[in-house]
Amino acid sequence: MAKKSGTKASEKSSGTKASRKGPDAQGTGKHEGKAGRKARQKAAEKLAKAARKVEKAERKAAEAERKAAARSAAAREATVEGLAVQRDAAIELLRVRPGFVLTELDAAGTPGFDASRAQTREALGAIGGELAELQERLYAHGRTGGDRSVLLVLQGLDTSGKGGIVRHVLGLVDPQGVALHAFGAPTPEEARHHYLWRIRRALPRPGRIGVFDRSHYEDVLVARVDGLVAPDVWEGRYDEINRFEAKAVASGTTVVKVLLWVSPDEQLRRLRERLERPDKLWKYAPSDVDARARRPAYEAAYQDVLDRTSTDAAPWFVVPADDRWYARLAVSALLHRALADLDLGWPVPGFDVAEELARLDATR
Ligand code: AMP
Ligand code: MG
Repeated sequence: MAKKSGTKASEKSSGTKASRKGPDAQGTGKHEGKAGRKARQKAAEKLAKAARKVEKAERKAAEAERKAAARSAAAREATVEGLAVQRDAAIELLRVRPGFVLTELDAAGTPGFDASRAQTREALGAIGGELAELQERLYAHGRTGGDRSVLLVLQGLDTSGKGGIVRHVLGLVDPQGVALHAFGAPTPEEARHHYLWRIRRALPRPGRIGVFDRSHYEDVLVARVDGLVAPDVWEGRYDEINRFEAKAVASGTTVVKVLLWVSPDEQLRRLRERLERPDKLWKYAPSDVDARARRPAYEAAYQDVLDRTSTDAAPWFVVPADDRWYARLAVSALLHRALADLDLGWPVPGFDVAEELARLDATR
């Protein structure tokens, strides 16, 4: 509106009417009459008025924009704060308690996080900043003689999203502080050793976040389901694993065990996607279909893992994984809790800071 009247005003002052009078009339006003001067004055006033109108409209728009930004910042803060509270509640919901039945879990659920996709991603971004600082403290602690570390054990059926967790959760922190190990079928050398040999070697050093993409649990899962070892062999492994983990915990490693649980329907969809997309084919293995066909046996094997190896020292958390972003947020919350519970401050330097500052300044 304001712009329109401005255009009109300017047309009147310097445009059509004046040009009709000929070149003289467009001059400085030296030759124009009283009426002309009055018309020019009126046009100028109109122009100024229009400019004021434009200015006012712009001020109003800027103010509205500022208010909207403040409103959305407040909403964002409330969301992030709300999700931080939900985060702690969610962790408790995911923890495996006696009597937990895996096949009764709703893999499409999002326990503890009642949020939209956009809010979930936003919360993941917010937690990422906190994770990065906590991880740096852990790293600094390790560099200055500390003995703490964190181990994230990721288990789950094919397509459950273990890789996505590594990319989207561990991707939020400095890769220098992360030690990732993916465990496949044992190599000939590994097979010559005790099944915990390769696991022990991969435990995180002080200051590190270790991540196991599959783990020693395969030795009571695939080894049992595929009959790779006799029942009395895998039977004895649960207690052995508990002792092994308790020892790691006692020497400073917080062990966070996560089972990502995907529904049969969602797994089918994801496997189909792998076969239908050239960029996903590399993730597919023909054995995935065989493992899928043995789902009931895997469910039973996982149920035993949860029943027999969820200890106070190293509890299991089962994360519904049909919603990838929920699963990523949930695991980031678990990692956040593990790091925050270490309660690490920044290390105290082994030198006199004031003295060093003085020495540095002396080199100016
Ligand atoms: P992926 O995680 O898709 O790279 O697949 C790794 C494969 O290695 C899975 O089929 C696992 O079941 C298999 N695997 C991992 N650990 C073991 C193990 N200890 N014994 C036999 N197979 C294993
Ligand atoms: Mg695979």
